[in-house]
Amino acid sequence: MVYDVIILGSGPAGLSAAIYASRAKLKFVVIEKNMVTGGQILDTYEIDNYPGLFHVSGVDLAEKFKKHCDCLGTEFITGEVKSLELRDKIKRITLLNGVTIKAHSIVIAMGARCRKLNVEGEEKYTGMGVSYCAICDGPFFRKKETVVIGGGDSALEEALFLSRICSKVTLIHRGKQYRAALSLINKVEETKNIECLYNTEVCKIEGNEVVNCITVKDIVTAKQSSIATNGVFIAIGRDPNTDLVKDMVHINKEGYIITDSDCLTNLEGVYAAGDIREKSLRQVITAAADGAISITAVEHFLQGR
Ligand code: NAP
Repeated sequence: MVYDVIILGSGPAGLSAAIYASRAKLKFVVIEKNMVTGGQILDTYEIDNYPGLFHVSGVDLAEKFKKHCDCLGTEFITGEVKSLELRDKIKRITLLNGVTIKAHSIVIAMGARCRKLNVEGEEKYTGMGVSYCAICDGPFFRKKETVVIGGGDSALEEALFLSRICSKVTLIHRGKQYRAALSLINKVEETKNIECLYNTEVCKIEGNEVVNCITVKDIVTAKQSSIATNGVFIAIGRDPNTDLVKDMVHINKEGYIITDSDCLTNLEGVYAAGDIREKSLRQVITAAADGAISITAVEHFLQGR
C-alpha cells in the first residue's frame, strides 16, 4: 500500500499535520520514535504563549493534541527510522524492525535535540547530576546548589525554574551579555538566589558517584576555579534531527532544512515542518502552523500530479 503522505514525527508540527491530513481525508500515517506522543513539549513545564491555552503544561498540551488526532482516527506507528529514500517519486521509509512504509509525499517533522557541551565528565555524569531539562530533573535538586550553562532564553528560563526549588543557582555564560528576552533578563537579575557569571566557560565536570563540582575558566583572565555543585543543567541550544536526511535535502550551515514558505524542500513531495526547518522563531505555535501549511501544500501537490 502507498500512503498519500507519511508524517515523520509526533511533536506539535507532526500532530498538527495529522489533524489537517485527517480533515483533508488523506491516506496517511504518523511515525513516532517513542510511545509517548508530543516531542519536545513533553519537557516544557508551562506554555503561556499558545492562544486560548493559558498556564497549560507541555504534557497536558501534548495530550490534547494526541486526543484531537485520535478523535479524527489518526494511524500511529511507533518505530525508529533506519533509512529513507526521498528522491524517487514513491518515498520509502525503512524502520529498524525492517518494516518499509511507502508514500507519495512526506512531511519531515523530527524536531531538534539538546546540544552537548562536549567537556570531560559530561557524558559520564549524564543522569548522575548532569541534565538537559530542569523541568524534568530539577525536583531531584530540592534545596541543593545547581549551575545552569547558557545565555539564551532556555538557560534563563531553566535558572528561574530552578531558583524556586534549589537553594542557589549559578548561571554561567560564556558571553558578556545574554541573548535572551529582556523580561527574562530582568527576572533573573531580580532573583536573589541566582548568581550570574559572565565570560566564563566550563572546562570539566567532576564528582564521585554523582557530580560534586565543576571547573570553570574566566575567558578574560584565563584563571581557572572550581564551583561546588550538585547539579549541572546544560541549556546551550538545540540541533536539528537531520542526520538521516541531510544528504538528500538542502540544509543551512546550522543543519536546519531549507524550505520555501510552503515548507517544501528542494525535493518534490518532500516537506519539512517545525523545529527541524530553517526559520526565525521556533515555538509550539510556529511548529503547529508549519504542520498546517505543509499538509495544505501536500494536498495541492497530490491534486496536481
Ligand atoms: P540559543 O538562543 O541558541 O542560546 C544558546 C546559548 O547557549 C547562547 O547564549 C550561547 O552562547 C550558549 N552556548 C552555545 N554553545 C555553547 C557552548 N558550547 N558552551 C557554552 N555556551 C554555549 O538557544 P536557546 O536558549 O535554547 O533558545 C533556542 C530558541 O528557542 C531561541 O530562538 C529562543 O528564543 C527560543 N526559546 C524561546 C523561549 C520562550 O519564548 N519562552 C524559551 C526557550 C527558547 P553565545 O550567546 O555566546 O553564543
